[in-house]
Amino acid sequence: MPKRIVILGGGTGGTLTANRLRRLYSLDAAVITVVEQDDRHVYQPGLLFVPFGLTHPEDIVRPRERQLRIGIDFVESEIEHVDIDACKVHLANGATLDYDVLVVASGARLVPEETEGLLGPGWMKDVFTFYTPEGAAALGSALEHFDRGRLVVDVVDMPIKCPVAPLEFCFLADWYFTERGVRDQIQITYATPLDAAFTKPIAAAQLGGMLAERGIELVTEFNTGEVAADGKLIGYDGREIPFDLAVVIPLHGGAQYVGRSPGLGDELDFVPTDEHTLQAKCAPNVFVIGDAANVPASKAGSVTHFEGETLVENVRHFLAGEPLEPGFDGHANCFIETGYHKALLIDFNYDTEPLPGHYPAQVGLPLLKESRVNHLGKLLFQSVYWHALLPGRDLPGLGSSMPTAGKQTRVPEED
Ligand SMILES: Cc1cc2nc3c(=O)[nH]c(=O)nc-3n(C[C@H](O)[C@H](O)[C@H](O)COP(=O)(O)OP(=O)(O)OC[C@H]3O[C@@H](n4cnc5c(N)ncnc54)[C@H](O)[C@@H]3O)c2cc1C
Repeated sequence: MPKRIVILGGGTGGTLTANRLRRLYSLDAAVITVVEQDDRHVYQPGLLFVPFGLTHPEDIVRPRERQLRIGIDFVESEIEHVDIDACKVHLANGATLDYDVLVVASGARLVPEETEGLLGPGWMKDVFTFYTPEGAAALGSALEHFDRGRLVVDVVDMPIKCPVAPLEFCFLADWYFTERGVRDQIQITYATPLDAAFTKPIAAAQLGGMLAERGIELVTEFNTGEVAADGKLIGYDGREIPFDLAVVIPLHGGAQYVGRSPGLGDELDFVPTDEHTLQAKCAPNVFVIGDAANVPASKAGSVTHFEGETLVENVRHFLAGEPLEPGFDGHANCFIETGYHKALLIDFNYDTEPLPGHYPAQVGLPLLKESRVNHLGKLLFQSVYWHALLPGRDLPGLGSSMPTAGKQTRVPEED
């Protein structure tokens, strides 16, 4: 009998996992099913560019099923809940799916309703998010007409998808308003719950310095309690940040069905997961990839891609009755768009913070340094995403473990 592998979610992680598994197992050896609630696969890193008119929502969306190899079953339905004891998935359309192995790849969900006033009268009028295609497009229209006042970019709480995206938004806004000749009439503020511009000290210092150079105000340890209708963010500690235009990254949680599946999730509906094997804590035949996992890695497509190799190997080990490999090291890398056709690149894992140097070896892309070549890398990545990452291909010369060869372990005082 073929093994039944059910994958919950047909985004980045679900698609690349299904494609890798389909290459590994013949049709006789495994039936692979992907369950997904819609047929619109959004290239989410492209959302950053939409508000600045640098791309359009229709250019970053493709049908989901077309990203899956032949021989993968695609079921378009919402997931209702999972019965871990019975190894059964219940779908909203009434059907059920039995599994030998379950892969949870249902990502993170925006929960703006958790913040008082965020969805109030100002929503989509002077309060936006660029984390959805609709929000990014609406924000684009608002930015076009914004030529004086205070723009506030606010992260409600961590964790969020792509923790550098709000910083990139600030840098691009600085560039965009400068190009339009209105920068000196606009004050830009970045409000974050972190105690610095970023979590890791060396990158935080670099990125904080870049905000200061551009005259972007940084407000740290700001936990947004309320978005008031008269145009201000109110922190839990009573601090207030007035705005004319607010760009808010709402609170994130896991998929709602996780909360309806006894034993599967934590209080935020993320799935407790072994950070090295990617096996769920709740059952040995459940694995987790991408933003759905509670592992201490960034919620990023690059992380999801690097996890894919370990996860698929461990599904194979599990089905063969072999011990799992603790293969995932927390590897993440992100291009950080900084405006003026430049970007910087950071590369890090659970143990090593982003360091200067080059990626992936002593000759390569500059790390923690703005350059045009990194900007080109960021633009090229969309094509890599559709043609290499989603099909589950290994990228030549770029393994899933973090490379160390090009990294400076001692940071020069003045670079
Ligand atoms: C604005 C923005 C910019 C970003 N920039 C970058 C970047 O530059 N670099 C980078 O590496 N990453 C970036 N990311 C993050 C990256 O897109 C995600 O980390 C990645 O897509 C995670 O993959 P995933 O498979 O875990 O989740 P997703 O790709 O989000 O897929 C989850 C899927 O599960 C489905 N699902 C959820 N619940 C259900 C249900 N109940 N029933 C059926 N289906 C369900 C969803 O519809 C979705 O398709 C960015 C994200 C955003 C929002």
